[in-house]
Amino acid sequence: MSIEKHIEKVLFSSKVIAQRVGQIGSEITSDFSSDSESSSPVFVGVATGACLFLADLVRRIDLPISIDFIRADSYGSGTVSSGTPRISFDLKLDVANKHVVLVEDIVDTGNTLNCLIEHLKLKKASSVSVCTLLDKPSRRKVHFKLVGNGKFYSGFECPDEFVVGYGMDFAEKYRNLSYIGVLKPEYYM
Ligand code: 5GP
Ligand code: MG
Ligand code: MG
Repeated sequence: MSIEKHIEKVLFSSKVIAQRVGQIGSEITSDFSSDSESSSPVFVGVATGACLFLADLVRRIDLPISIDFIRADSYGSGTVSSGTPRISFDLKLDVANKHVVLVEDIVDTGNTLNCLIEHLKLKKASSVSVCTLLDKPSRRKVHFKLVGNGKFYSGFECPDEFVVGYGMDFAEKYRNLSYIGVLKPEYYM
C-alpha cells in the first residue's frame, strides 16, 4: 500500500517547501556575507529531524560554510517527553569563535533549542542563530535566547497538530515523505 494512503492532509507541499527554503537560503547568504569574519558559518543540523531540511537548505547557501550534526534527546525510557533534553551526540567540529546556525525541523516548547543553545554557548560560539523550518509559537514554554548577534529564521508557522514528513517522524517512520502532513488517526498508534 502506498504511503500516501496514510496521510489525512498535506499542510506544506514539496513545492511550497522548496520555494521557502530558497528564500531562507538567500536571506542567510546575504546576512552572513557582510564581512569575511562571519562568512563561513557552521551549519549544525539537529538529528534526525532536520536531515532533509539541512540538505536542501545548504544547497541554497552561496557561502563556504561547514556542516556538522548534533543530537538532543528529551525522551527517557518512556514515550512522554521529560522536558529536560540531554545532548546524546555531540559536534565533531570546534565551534569556538565561530558563527553557528542551528538547523531544526520544528520548534515546539523550545526546550530542545534552549538546551542546544546553552551547549553551544559553553563551547564559546561567537554567535548562535536558529533556522527552523516550522514553528509552533502557541506551544512555547521556554523563551530561548540567541547568542551574540544571532538571528531567528523560520520557514512557516505550524498549526498545533502533530506533523510528519520532510524529516519529521512518528515512531521513527514517515521521515522520507517529501511534503509535510498529518497522519490519519489510525496510524498514530
Ligand atoms: P521542543 O523541545 O521544542 O518541545 O520539541 C522539539 C522537537 O520535538 C522537535 O525538534 C521535533 O523533533 C519534535 N516535535 C515537536 N513537534 C513535532 C511535530 O508536530 N511532529 C514531529 N514529528 N515532531 C515534533
Ligand atoms: Mg528536531
Ligand atoms: Mg521525533
